[in-house]
Amino acid sequence: MGIDRKTSIAVVGGGLGGAATAALLQRAGHRVTVFEQAGAFEPAGAGIHLTPNVMRVLDRVGVADALVGAGYLPESFTSRDLASNSVRCALPLGAGVRARYGAPYLTVGRGVLHRELLGALRPGTVRYGKRLVSFDDRGARVRLDFADGSTAEADCVIGADGLGSRVREGMHGAERPGFSGQIAYRATVPAGTPVPVDRRCITKWWAGESFVIGYPTDSRSGDYYFVAGTAADAWPHPRSWVEADRDEMLDAFAGSCDEVRTLLEAARSLTKWPLFERPPLQQWGRGRVALLGDACHPMRPHMAQGAAMAIEDGVLLLRCLEAEDDVEDAFWRYAESRKQRTTRIQAVSAANSWLKDTEDPAWVFSYDAMNVDLPESRRHSTCTTLMS
Ligand SMILES: Cc1cc2nc3c(=O)[nH]c(=O)nc-3n(C[C@H](O)[C@H](O)[C@H](O)COP(=O)(O)OP(=O)(O)OC[C@H]3O[C@@H](n4cnc5c(N)ncnc54)[C@H](O)[C@@H]3O)c2cc1C
Repeated sequence: MGIDRKTSIAVVGGGLGGAATAALLQRAGHRVTVFEQAGAFEPAGAGIHLTPNVMRVLDRVGVADALVGAGYLPESFTSRDLASNSVRCALPLGAGVRARYGAPYLTVGRGVLHRELLGALRPGTVRYGKRLVSFDDRGARVRLDFADGSTAEADCVIGADGLGSRVREGMHGAERPGFSGQIAYRATVPAGTPVPVDRRCITKWWAGESFVIGYPTDSRSGDYYFVAGTAADAWPHPRSWVEADRDEMLDAFAGSCDEVRTLLEAARSLTKWPLFERPPLQQWGRGRVALLGDACHPMRPHMAQGAAMAIEDGVLLLRCLEAEDDVEDAFWRYAESRKQRTTRIQAVSAANSWLKDTEDPAWVFSYDAMNVDLPESRRHSTCTTLMS
């Protein structure tokens, strides 16, 4: 059972989802090549939350211990009021999370996560400087055309090329992602800088459309990272981020408590990002091509689940390729296995309500991508329909 191990799989995009998926496929014995547009990856200054549902998968990839060694295990997720700093609620994390879910809740540098995922791949798996411009699904094989004039062929293709996906465009036509009406300032605060916040916790301050979330990313260096989001009419820049002006950010957060203002004033290497999103997609695949991660279901970052969903996608994609003999059947079943969960997570992320008040996070944290039931096979459902 399962597709032939000789089947060649091209992953377009070597970001968080593409690298994790390629590592999962390769560990299971599949033939994978990753085509990445970047010539090389720059170390990224941003931080990322890794909740137990994704830490479980990262353990399977073999990188969880290294990430725990490099990152931080926060003691709680504390929600506070942006104007007064008063506590709304606190979700204990730390050892209790590991006891309940069998995996920790970690915060870590995004660049560290990416480096570990790429390091889990066999040397030579990623072909850098390969920007996909188009593809042609010829039935048995798919041809890929790159901006440098080169081409490649594979038996099937996974589009993990992020928010502005060319693979998605080839499948559904050009349609720009929608600006959500929010922008986010992102910065790190070096370890020695005194800021009046509890560095052991993830803290999110809330006020209408505005929020600030801060957390440590490295237990050894003591680095702290924050994202400060607020409403904006438009994103007028051609790029996906720009260097930001500290006074502009401080003006936008003028009504904040002293603790937050001191934190924002301590920012180093401040950047500004638009938050984009797209509505849930019905068709995740066509023929021998399937989408994954932000290419398929980009979301606002308010649940810290974008990369987690991309990586969970990778596990279900692998499991479906192992449960079906035919690639198209596997891609169909994969999409069916993921739509409900990603649609719900997109909706809660858009509402920016996650952990604002006391709630049980089990539906997110306890999801076990390696063991969740697969939906019925398309072949089986077709047989049942024909017989009834
Ligand atoms: C402010 C902010 C905070 C966030 N915090 C979190 C968090 O705490 N936890 C979390 O889980 N998620 C978080 N996310 C979301 C997360 O970063 C994304 O959801 C995740 O990176 C998606 O992974 P991906 O592989 O689909 O896309 P990406 O990681 O964006 O990778 C796409 C890759 O495809 C490549 N590519 C693009 N076009 C082409 C092409 N034509 N040809 C070849 N290669 C191409 C790109 O260069 C890139 O390497 C956050 C996002 C934001 C904006």
